[in-house]
Amino acid sequence: MSDSTATPTGNPGTAATAGAPAAPRTITTQCCITGGGPAGMMLGYLLARAGGDVVVLEKHADFLRDFRGDTIHPSTLELMHELGLLDAFLQLPHHKVEHLGADIGEVRVIAADFTRLSSTAKYLVFMPQWDFLNFLAAHARRYPGFHLMMNAQATGLIQRDGAVTGVHATTETGPVDIAAPLTVGCDGRHSTIRAAAGFKVDSLGAPMDILWMRLSRRPGDDEDVIGRFDAGRIFIQLNRGDYWQCAYVIPKGTADEMMKRDIAGFRNDILRLSPWFGERVNELKSWDDVKLLTVALDRLPKWYRPGLICIGDAAHAMSPVGGVGINLAIQDAVAAANVLAGPLRAGRVEESDLLRIQTRRMWPTRVTQAMQRLIQNRVISRVLAGNAPPKPPAAMKLLEWFPALRAIPARMMGIGVRPEHVHTPEVGQATGGWVRT
Ligand SMILES: Cc1cc2nc3c(=O)[nH]c(=O)nc-3n(C[C@H](O)[C@H](O)[C@H](O)COP(=O)(O)OP(=O)(O)OC[C@H]3O[C@@H](n4cnc5c(N)ncnc54)[C@H](O)[C@@H]3O)c2cc1C
Repeated sequence: MSDSTATPTGNPGTAATAGAPAAPRTITTQCCITGGGPAGMMLGYLLARAGGDVVVLEKHADFLRDFRGDTIHPSTLELMHELGLLDAFLQLPHHKVEHLGADIGEVRVIAADFTRLSSTAKYLVFMPQWDFLNFLAAHARRYPGFHLMMNAQATGLIQRDGAVTGVHATTETGPVDIAAPLTVGCDGRHSTIRAAAGFKVDSLGAPMDILWMRLSRRPGDDEDVIGRFDAGRIFIQLNRGDYWQCAYVIPKGTADEMMKRDIAGFRNDILRLSPWFGERVNELKSWDDVKLLTVALDRLPKWYRPGLICIGDAAHAMSPVGGVGINLAIQDAVAAANVLAGPLRAGRVEESDLLRIQTRRMWPTRVTQAMQRLIQNRVISRVLAGNAPPKPPAAMKLLEWFPALRAIPARMMGIGVRPEHVHTPEVGQATGGWVRT
């Protein structure tokens, strides 16, 4: 990486004239990754580990956001194992889950049994995503080619002769241009990069949004993830140690109407589903304590153009159904690194390389999104529209009668379709990269 005060056209040290905006500083790297979520951090880590030079731009000052999802899947744990990081990773506070169940109406069902998997880790790990991302950042920093810029927001693409040649960004210290022969858009489902590239987006629809809130956790509370399906309502509670991260699922577009009600009505809704919260619901003092997360399910028919590719949610926004979006983002990153490490080292990434990435990852994306749509339309929409307690679908009954079948949802959720493996080498970790906040 080189860092200069050159303008994109290459006038090193050009000083801003009085009154004129300062010329952006230019940083040159082999690969600019926009977004420090699961896709961006894993890709940055793998490329730097393979001896590449990468700049990861993350618009926030830290990874401390609570709406990212907490699931680390057996397939991601398998990758950690392949990278020699699993033992260190499991030193972080986490919660292991071997079975996933739900209360549907009056019936408790076990939908997935991870102990039946053949992977190294036969369980799902719940861990706040910021711990996971900090862990990746700490390990990536060992490699000299890794450069993470926090508080750095990608605002647009630098383009020349129809090819993307880098990214414009704003940072706390002023504008920066990242010049790179390859940009990878990992900036999530509201991706600035995919919009700037003019990529077509096919929306697949989602019937729900989510109200997201915290309630304190007390000794004696359940240990596990709790999913409660009742007439017109779905309520999920994730164990985050001293508090429950709660997701209350509502029909899409109804949040405004709902939030016109007094918050007391909402507290009662929660108590009807999970009476054991008791007076803790009063921790929701006003609607300010409840965050609306809009759910999207979409994908790009084409993920790339010369000099640019999108992966993760930027290429295919995932619904929270099944908690598989992080898995897919990580798998995209591994596939991308496997394809890109060699061409980046050789100094030339062709469109055919980018096509290879999309071709490899489009099928898992289609299959996973098809399953999410099926569950959204067949289960979630019906539960949300219903006014009688739901009954477990027939497939759930099969899982009760034949427990061995619980391996199938466990495999779909925990491993996914076409799992990736690390094929990139580790090339030195002499001097260490940097994280600039
Ligand atoms: C309510 C909800 C709950 C979910 N729960 C789960 C779950 O439990 N398990 C699961 O597997 N999946 C879950 N998902 C899906 C999951 O969050 C995504 O599929 C996954 O995070 C995608 O990872 P990513 O790295 O592609 O994008 P993201 O995680 O969205 O990361 C994108 C990153 O880019 C940064 N960024 C954005 N714009 C810019 C910019 N212009 N410049 C620089 N940085 C930028 C963002 O700050 C962010 O850090 C959930 C989704 C929703 C909506």
